[in-house]
Amino acid sequence: MTDFTATRAQFHLPDGVIYLDGNSLGPLPRAATERVAAMMQREWGEMLITGWNRAGWMAAPGVIGDRIARLIGAAPGSVVIGDTLSVKVYQALAAALPLRPDRRVILSDSGNFPSDLYMADGLVGMLGRGHELRVVDPEEVADAITDEVAVLMLTQVDYRTGRRHDMAALTAKAHEHGALTLWDLAHSAGAFPVDLAGTGADFAVGCTYKYLNGGPGAPAFIYVSPDHIDRIRPALAGWLGHEAPFAFDLDYRAGGGIDRMRVGTPPVLQMAALETALDIWDSVDLGRVRARSVALSELFIETVEAKCPALTLASPRNPEERGSQVGFRHPEGYAIMQALIARGVIGDFRAPDILRFGITPLYLSEADILRAVDILADILDNDLWDRAEYKVRAAVT
Ligand SMILES: *Cc1c(COP(=O)(O)O)cnc(C)c1O
Repeated sequence: MTDFTATRAQFHLPDGVIYLDGNSLGPLPRAATERVAAMMQREWGEMLITGWNRAGWMAAPGVIGDRIARLIGAAPGSVVIGDTLSVKVYQALAAALPLRPDRRVILSDSGNFPSDLYMADGLVGMLGRGHELRVVDPEEVADAITDEVAVLMLTQVDYRTGRRHDMAALTAKAHEHGALTLWDLAHSAGAFPVDLAGTGADFAVGCTYKYLNGGPGAPAFIYVSPDHIDRIRPALAGWLGHEAPFAFDLDYRAGGGIDRMRVGTPPVLQMAALETALDIWDSVDLGRVRARSVALSELFIETVEAKCPALTLASPRNPEERGSQVGFRHPEGYAIMQALIARGVIGDFRAPDILRFGITPLYLSEADILRAVDILADILDNDLWDRAEYKVRAAVT
């Protein structure tokens, strides 16, 4: 099968909408509506608290973790879901630093998502042991890996430009210098094949509501290499990461394996929705998704550059250096994006001047790409963005 009509049919996309924002919030899997309703009626409604055992709610974070593991090249039993990505960044970094007790540098880059940097900064202050969060330009990361670095903490794909780090090369270099790696896969999971085990990554985190289509508020995931997990003492030592939560011991004893990265009660309704998205992923080959993403992105870049000369490509031109999103710069980017959304082409805007488009093959076709570019060209050629209503900034851009 060379097209994705089968997967497209499994999503609800509103009439008249071309959705180029699946990198921020994936669309609704059609099966989710019924699955969540059934879960409420049959499980929550009828089983009440017995659902934790009878409907498998308690085991679900690990079961779902294993389904995600397949998509990111992780061994079964090395991924668990819960909480939000920001929390998982904190948790992973707090787990990694004590494994390098003599080192004080956390190395990251200015292409990282601010929340990741804020979480690291907060942890450094909390620890009060003189750790330094060192932030360099993305191009300088490789040279900045030295024997001082405890943890290399990077988001693999830049959330604005789609620039992609070479996970294998940077992980290898970090290891040569005795550093650990923490990869944020927010814009990687479901966008292209990731090989955590093959690259030897130590820690990884990511969210399930972007390319994975788990829905707004879907829980994050965390991966810890099987080489490290048994040595980790969780900083967020919640009862569901305890070896025996229902023993209600007064002392914390970390649970076995990846279970210790659980914190508290999992979001059961969200997990029901997420499972329907993962059902779709079960039928998909990520290598084919990647090939299709590159083809659609190349088509998008080529036609935008031909028809919209006022826009400048913000993403790397070489597809090997990109994730699955494409950014273009324009000083009036915000207003242009609002005008586009008003015409049914949904992308998003990232300050200061980037129009960002997620290329998600599960439900996008060539025709969608070409139509979106035609509308974009019309808006630019006729200054249709130049209206007061398109310049009022909303809370979420
Ligand atoms: C989307 C994203 C987040 C969001 O974190 P939440 O806690 O889920 O809101 C964090 N980091 C990166 C790199 C992201 O792309």
